[in-house]
Amino acid sequence: MNPRLLVLSLGGTITMVPGAGRGIAPKLGAAELIASVPALAEIAEIEAESPLRVASPSLTIANLVDVARRIEAAFADGADGAVVIQGTDTIEESAFILDLLVGGDRPVVVTGAMRGADAPGADGPANLLAAVRVAATADARGLGTLVVLNYAIHAARFVQKSHTALPSAFLSPLAGPLGAVIEGRPRFFMRVTRNPCLAAADGPPRPVALVKATMGDETHLFRLLAESGCSGFVIEGMGAGHVHADAAPILGALAARFPVVLASRVVAGPVFTETYGYPGAEIDLIGRGLIPAGYLSGLKARLLLSLALRETSDRRAIGEHFAAYA
Ligand code: ASP
Repeated sequence: MNPRLLVLSLGGTITMVPGAGRGIAPKLGAAELIASVPALAEIAEIEAESPLRVASPSLTIANLVDVARRIEAAFADGADGAVVIQGTDTIEESAFILDLLVGGDRPVVVTGAMRGADAPGADGPANLLAAVRVAATADARGLGTLVVLNYAIHAARFVQKSHTALPSAFLSPLAGPLGAVIEGRPRFFMRVTRNPCLAAADGPPRPVALVKATMGDETHLFRLLAESGCSGFVIEGMGAGHVHADAAPILGALAARFPVVLASRVVAGPVFTETYGYPGAEIDLIGRGLIPAGYLSGLKARLLLSLALRETSDRRAIGEHFAAYA
């Protein structure tokens, strides 16, 4: 018997065709996308739903919490895996939210497309077929949420959109993809161990601001953060996690009132914790109460902090969540 999969479509370029005005916009739903790829019927028994039809910059963390709950309900009802279709602009964020929230070992796969549904060489059908193949294989169990585009299989915690236009836009700069769909068969060349999940049902995500450190003295911007209404902050430091020396005491004062996480603005690699000893370097900032993000990008660190803040604002407890990514 073929595996049972839930396929949820949220919108994105994969669903977009020209409309009345200029440019393409979301229109198609999961049922139409599935109907355009007849080979899917041979791989899985699919239940299709289209809870949203939006461009992915309009998705919210709360939307993805709802998606996580829907997937959990489908798993409780016996589904073997889930595929989420959405815009590529925020795939790396959505996938990480689902990785944090959907427990168990059944595969969750996120996919999209870089070319519109009726563009020459549209990549949506091939990406959907590959994503369903991955969600349907027992080999994908236990790997958490995966992102499948352009035949590559990425782990949610590593994947990044790395080009604005190419079908090969998705990369995992730190570790590489886990595998690829080759000759129609998902092949895994390495595996990740799952990190602890958070409960999907723990209430609304908390507002967290992500701020990038830039050359020069940006203290005026950092000074505004305490009154921003956010519950926590992620600072993307330079290099291994560094800011201007004058910014260090301001961030320390902020960390005395709110959880402040230190990530890096560099494309890949963990923030350091014990190498640089100058003012504004990682030893100084961590000593002032900032929490190191490990190898999580600023985008993903923001999501972990936003969801972890639902259960605690204790700095030590939050630090333990991030320690899993050190
Ligand atoms: N702007 C689009 C979106 O994220 C891009 C895409 O889907 O590739 O919805």
